[in-house]
Amino acid sequence: MMIVEAKDLTKRYGDYEALHSLSFEVQEGSIVAIVGPNGAGKSTLIRLIAGMLKRTSGIIRVFGKDPWSDYEAQRRISLVLDRTYLPQFLTVEEVLRDMASKFGKTMSDVVPLLEEFSASVFLKSKIKDLSTGTKQKIQIIFSLIKDPSLVLADEPTANLDIASRFEVYNTFLELKERGVTVIISSHLASELLSISTHLLGINGGTLKYMNSVSTLIRDD
Ligand code: ADP
Ligand code: ADP
Repeated sequence: MMIVEAKDLTKRYGDYEALHSLSFEVQEGSIVAIVGPNGAGKSTLIRLIAGMLKRTSGIIRVFGKDPWSDYEAQRRISLVLDRTYLPQFLTVEEVLRDMASKFGKTMSDVVPLLEEFSASVFLKSKIKDLSTGTKQKIQIIFSLIKDPSLVLADEPTANLDIASRFEVYNTFLELKERGVTVIISSHLASELLSISTHLLGINGGTLKYMNSVSTLIRDD
């Protein structure tokens, strides 16, 4: 099933064209790495897919709908950013309870999520006492409370050391096993190669390639 479809997708900020006529598709169950240097247009693309920015021209569809204006599309998308914005003095459990109630869920609905990702040990910890890597992992787990079909992550491993980055990458692999489609932006292309099914390369706002990783890496 096609999850994301972009056709001649263009985004301008005023007179400045940040994305030039991008066309690509993302199939269900993929982990797509959007790779390119700083300023390439990765955040802009993630935000267009997330429905947080409006396209200038062309088509962007997520689950066949316009993510900018469709409730059902927005309901099924979660966005993870490069850092968490959580209240420092509350515990993971308190923040989790807040978030669960927003989506009509109870603690018994959501605590198993933490268990599944081996994070229930942090329930009583205050956010401020978590390592940056654990905060990111918790943020990814929180993004699942609304049962998204698509998780978008914009530079989710920025500011993390290598061990924490790989912990976050493993969390994305677990999302894939749950049937969630994942799109991650990063300037660390080589690291993402190990978990991605597809690489989408952009530079200067232009799509350079969209490759299946299995065609790039062969075991034979
Ligand atoms: P990346 O995530 O790859 O670093 P961005 O999507 O953040 O790239 O930015 C792409 C280009 O668009 C950059 O040149 C950036 O300066 C520009 N840009 C990003 N956001 C805005 C904005 N709100 N207004 C004007 N220019 C912007
Ligand atoms: P603008 O304000 O830039 O004129 P509109 O929202 O009025 O844009 O949409 C212009 C046309 O594009 C309409 O026919 C609308 O249905 C269509 N459209 C709007 N959003 C999208 C989208 N995300 N993908 C494809 N077509 C869209």
